[in-house]
Amino acid sequence: MPQKTQDTPMMKQYQAIKDQYPDAFLFYRIGDFYELFYDDAIKGSQLLELTLTARNKSADDPIPMCGVPHHAAQNYVDILVDKGYKVAICEQMEDPRKAVGMVKRAVIQLVTPGTVMEDKPGQAKENNYLTALYVDQQQFGFAYADLATGEIFVTQFSEFEAVTSEMLSLQTKEVVVPEDLPQQYRQQLDQLDILVSVQADQKPTAEVSFVSQGIDEPITRAVLKTLVLYLVSTQKRALAHLQVAVQYEADQFLRMDHQVKETLELTRSMRTGERQGTLLWLLDKTKTAMGGRLLKQWLDRPLITRREIEARQTRVADFMAHFFERSTLQEALTKVYDLERLAGRVAFGSVNGRDLLQLKGSLAQVPVIKNVLQQMDTKSLRALLPELDEVPEVYDLIDRAIMDDAPISVTDGGVIKAGYNEQLDQYRDAMNNSKQWILNLEAQERKITGIHNLKIGFNKVFGYYIEVTNSNLKLVPKDRFERKQTLTNAERYITPELKEKEQLILEAQEKSTALEYELFTEIREKIKQQIQRLQHLAAIISEIDVLQGFSVIAEEQHYIQPKFVSHQKGIHIENGRHPVVEKVLGPQQYIANDVTMDQTTDVLLITGPNMSGKSTYMRQLALTVVMAQIGSFVPADTCELPIFDQIFTRIGAGDDLISGKSTFMVEMIEANYALAHASNRSLVLFDELGRGTATYDGMALAQAIIEYIHDHIHAKTLFSTHYHELTQLSDTLAKLKNIHVGATEENGKLIFMHKVLPGPADKSYGIHVAKLAGLPDSLLKRADGILQHLEAGSKANTPSKPAATPKIKTPNSTSQTPREQPAAIQETQQPLPEVEPDGQLSLFKEP
Ligand code: ADP
Repeated sequence: MPQKTQDTPMMKQYQAIKDQYPDAFLFYRIGDFYELFYDDAIKGSQLLELTLTARNKSADDPIPMCGVPHHAAQNYVDILVDKGYKVAICEQMEDPRKAVGMVKRAVIQLVTPGTVMEDKPGQAKENNYLTALYVDQQQFGFAYADLATGEIFVTQFSEFEAVTSEMLSLQTKEVVVPEDLPQQYRQQLDQLDILVSVQADQKPTAEVSFVSQGIDEPITRAVLKTLVLYLVSTQKRALAHLQVAVQYEADQFLRMDHQVKETLELTRSMRTGERQGTLLWLLDKTKTAMGGRLLKQWLDRPLITRREIEARQTRVADFMAHFFERSTLQEALTKVYDLERLAGRVAFGSVNGRDLLQLKGSLAQVPVIKNVLQQMDTKSLRALLPELDEVPEVYDLIDRAIMDDAPISVTDGGVIKAGYNEQLDQYRDAMNNSKQWILNLEAQERKITGIHNLKIGFNKVFGYYIEVTNSNLKLVPKDRFERKQTLTNAERYITPELKEKEQLILEAQEKSTALEYELFTEIREKIKQQIQRLQHLAAIISEIDVLQGFSVIAEEQHYIQPKFVSHQKGIHIENGRHPVVEKVLGPQQYIANDVTMDQTTDVLLITGPNMSGKSTYMRQLALTVVMAQIGSFVPADTCELPIFDQIFTRIGAGDDLISGKSTFMVEMIEANYALAHASNRSLVLFDELGRGTATYDGMALAQAIIEYIHDHIHAKTLFSTHYHELTQLSDTLAKLKNIHVGATEENGKLIFMHKVLPGPADKSYGIHVAKLAGLPDSLLKRADGILQHLEAGSKANTPSKPAATPKIKTPNSTSQTPREQPAAIQETQQPLPEVEPDGQLSLFKEP
């Protein structure tokens, strides 16, 4: 009976390996191909658009198969990993020609979504984080790492929501958990669209001890161990570039949960998911990929320590003051490659000659950078000089050893410079001498035989040969030349001396490429010794890069240095702007607004028609706070801010996408979160809270929430609302002030002024808009009647905590005289008219 296909030794070997990687695609190396079998082949052929064939097609039990050429494998691996799968790379571990029996094979790396090393185009400014979770008695150890850069961070949380929020903010694609993670958390993680990988507990490796230096608590140590063991066990090599874990506490930074960061569009646009249109997009004037990544990290975690923020500000100011030197600095930064990832590749063993040249080129810029900083000659920049390490050992080594035109391949020679290694020089001499000898032989044989067009050539199959065209065959010395190959118009011969020289050349060549590779590996190992210095240098350069970027944007957009004051003093911003909207609209079109919240104001209640600019005003304040606390300058004429501990938002977006009920639920969950966590040092932004439900419900809840914040939390709060009735709260809540965003009518059109003014908005603008839209008079009259009726009813019904309220004043109603109005700003659905800069309006000036 013929052997079944699945029982052949090779398929048995395949199966044994595949059993160890059930959740990964197994790329099984056979010669020049990686083959996939069985379900891997069926699914893989679809995902990768490959032809599905079969092993042993004609047998009773053909095995589904598809394959990719090994030199193109990286692309295919990337595609699968990008789609959230794992790929196990299985190599032949011995030369098939020399193998006895089955060629040994082993998995040399498991590539997973969280452990990608290759930089993808366009992703240089993104970190790719692998996260890990460890749970012990309601405490959550949390850690994350970027394998490409070696950075590792660790913390602990006491709420699971904080863990998931952090995971979403980090945009992790994979989380590692220990085998004994309680089932309830496993289920919740499974709902997040993040790959969950399990790491068995094992003996800690050297990497684990190194990374965990200075980490004391059992839970943070445990989560680091899980994380690092996973890295080591998937990558299957020493990872010398992993850095000592940085321990952080969420409350060391301005806290914003994932939802807040999304709402404020700090790094990702809500509409497109891209950078475009975000604060990161606006602020990113960095010249290096490392700087780009650092800026993103800063935006994720603004500071709360005044001293640290001001240290950044000082450097930004210093860069602003040195325009000419700054351009030299920028030029140097442009020539600095991704040192962090290069260091990672050195440790990983995937670095090539070109990478080392990039490393050298980057190090060559360090003296230039030092020089410019020296010229700028300020205290804050001079302090950086000792930190900027040229790592001369590495520079000199690469300079001595690596050819300036080294190829990408490290195994084919042509990498190591002459003069670096004596033995290598000898091999190369031997090769060159023999080649010269062959050239001489050609001339000599022409003379002896009289065949003037006799040629010596080389091909891979026959090696060196002497070629004689058919017309000269009669002159060939048959006793000395041995015929090897016949072509249509020529014959090829060899001679014993020729073969002898050939042997020498090929041997020397083989030895020299082998030696080059050996030398290259040695050089790599030597550089590996300096990885921590390179990483430190990378960190300093990234920081310089981000700060010089802040100076560029500050200059370009006319930002100013914010001043930090006590919470008592509160917020004083003159002519503040929304940085992104201003950038998009252009500086002429954006209407600047003041924000004043001193000790007498905790809550600003904002009214005004739709599209007038309420939520833009709220976001403007939040973005200004974030910018200030990362050390950037801010869009305003003057700016005094306290340092906030947390930002909470409930800003309507995509309400039309979600059903009314779920919007309301989301609102309430977010409101609850804010009420539970906010302090008197927090900033709370509620946009139209309560509109997701019936009017009275929503209004009652909105009022109760405002009162709660006002009486118990004392957080600085901006609350925009449709419920005009709420404006009466200013009579009873001492620290609540009304403001509104005005709209007016001009030539029968509604004009949005986008100007924030004191007092509540005109209550009947809705009916007014309807009138402008041309609804029949009788209908409008009826609407007005209903409004009056409702108002009377609502006043009677409101279980007012406030006493009876006086008639609402509308100091800036549509009937105001043109003199009092800010210049016309923006017409509905109309192109923007010219804007006149309007006179400063103080927000809370008493009428
Ligand atoms: P609301 O929250 O009141 O419905 P938005 O804040 O969404 O209104 O603003 C509506 C539009 O008006 C925004 O898309 C923005 O382009 C524009 N806008 C808002 N504030 C300003 C301003 N200060 N200057 C210029 N345009 C503004």
